[in-house]
Amino acid sequence: MKNLRRAAPAQLAGKIVTPDDKRYPRLRSTYTTVGRPAAVVLPESTDDIAAALRTAHEAGLWVAVRSGDHGLAGTGTNDDGLVLDLGALHRVDVLDRRARLVRAETGARWARVAQTLAPRGLAIGSGDHGNVGVGGIATGGGVGWLVRRYGLTVDRIRAVDVVLADGTVVRADAETDPDLLWVMRGAGAGAGIAVAFEIEAMELGAVGYAQLVAAVDPAGETLRRWADVTTRDPRELSTAVVLASQGATAAALISAVVASDDHRTAQRFLAPLLEIGEVAVQQAQMVRYPDLVPTAHLHTNAAQMPSSTTNGMLTGMSRDAARALVRATTAADPVLVQLRSLGGATHDLDPAATAFAHRHQNVLLVASAFPPHDKDRLAAGWAHLAPHVDGAYVNFESGPSRATFQQAYPGMTGDRVRDLWKRYDPEGVLRPRPWS
Ligand SMILES: Cc1cc2nc3c(=O)[nH]c(=O)nc-3n(C[C@H](O)[C@H](O)[C@H](O)COP(=O)(O)OP(=O)(O)OC[C@H]3O[C@@H](n4cnc5c(N)ncnc54)[C@H](O)[C@@H]3O)c2cc1C
Repeated sequence: MKNLRRAAPAQLAGKIVTPDDKRYPRLRSTYTTVGRPAAVVLPESTDDIAAALRTAHEAGLWVAVRSGDHGLAGTGTNDDGLVLDLGALHRVDVLDRRARLVRAETGARWARVAQTLAPRGLAIGSGDHGNVGVGGIATGGGVGWLVRRYGLTVDRIRAVDVVLADGTVVRADAETDPDLLWVMRGAGAGAGIAVAFEIEAMELGAVGYAQLVAAVDPAGETLRRWADVTTRDPRELSTAVVLASQGATAAALISAVVASDDHRTAQRFLAPLLEIGEVAVQQAQMVRYPDLVPTAHLHTNAAQMPSSTTNGMLTGMSRDAARALVRATTAADPVLVQLRSLGGATHDLDPAATAFAHRHQNVLLVASAFPPHDKDRLAAGWAHLAPHVDGAYVNFESGPSRATFQQAYPGMTGDRVRDLWKRYDPEGVLRPRPWS
């Protein structure tokens, strides 16, 4: 590997971390996956990214890209290849306060984005965790705390700076290269390396936040009533549910966020959730958006959470789907089920407007299992749930395959994604392996 450092251009000096480097143990792995890359490169500019791609090409090494290293598929590291860790590219700038236009570099963590924007009265919807990186969310989707009010993260991306696999640097917006902009908003991982995103932020002060616990009956009627409340207007209300297994019964741990800085409005919009069954309120308060993706989440990733995860979407919560969710949670070998409300603003875009085509579903359903036997356990649990789902979100899939590609990018969306991946990266340098 000394050869690799010698062969690399001078601009990468000190930025190539090989196994003999004391930084290597901290950089080799991601949240879920132990990696043994030949080297990790730490680019500080678009030129560095292009130089790293050239170096990989000349050394015949395959490439993995990472921003916040929270990817569930572990594609942010590899064995024997070159990993581009974009963590040093983490600037967040308000370009135009009146237009609420923000430029966020790919390696920023969402906790830092929230912290930087809050004093300006702005926020960008991301996900529920402050340590997740801008790059993975903004190239895949972004189902956040306020998703029904403000849509997905990709819905508000107006431009992306990209380094293509051949090292070309491109700015993609609606006028210059709309095809590249389209594919980067939902299927970016196979098209190019995003360096920075221009995103229309939301004007946001305090929000209402509540944590509730609801007993779930065996027939899942509680879940049907939850789905009913969260799919009806007002779109100010977004919720996330974890189904907790309690042996033969289940409980729904509900986090609800109301996009309003008025506590009476927040109370009014939360009230219907109290009617879905036996519900206990654990806390209800007004919080700042950075409190929902706090800097307390920031940590180094060292494969501390090996797991298997898959997901699907529901248009409505049928009786059979609700019963299947309870069964998957209360089985002898249960899977961990999470539900997120969709609908609202996520339905405002045409399905063809971005590579995230799912614009009619109302619930995102995520299932996870943990070692040992996590793959088998997930397969068994998912067998109950799979018949009910319609479409999937690429970012909650730990085992990408041709079948999961079709769920994430159905029909003509998938055809267009494949065509554009081939156009922008003809040799498939960046394409996720199972999708090559
Ligand atoms: C604890 C946790 C909570 C989560 N919560 C949510 C949530 O609430 N909502 C939600 O939508 N998702 C959520 N996710 C899923 C999350 O969207 C994905 O895991 C996402 O890929 C993580 O992004 P990252 O940059 O941290 O990951 P990384 O591991 O750095 O990247 C994952 C993959 O994305 C691609 N990628 C990353 N950066 C770039 C780039 N600059 N250019 C091109 N491709 C790139 C690469 O293929 C990379 O391998 C959560 C995940 C975890 C682990």
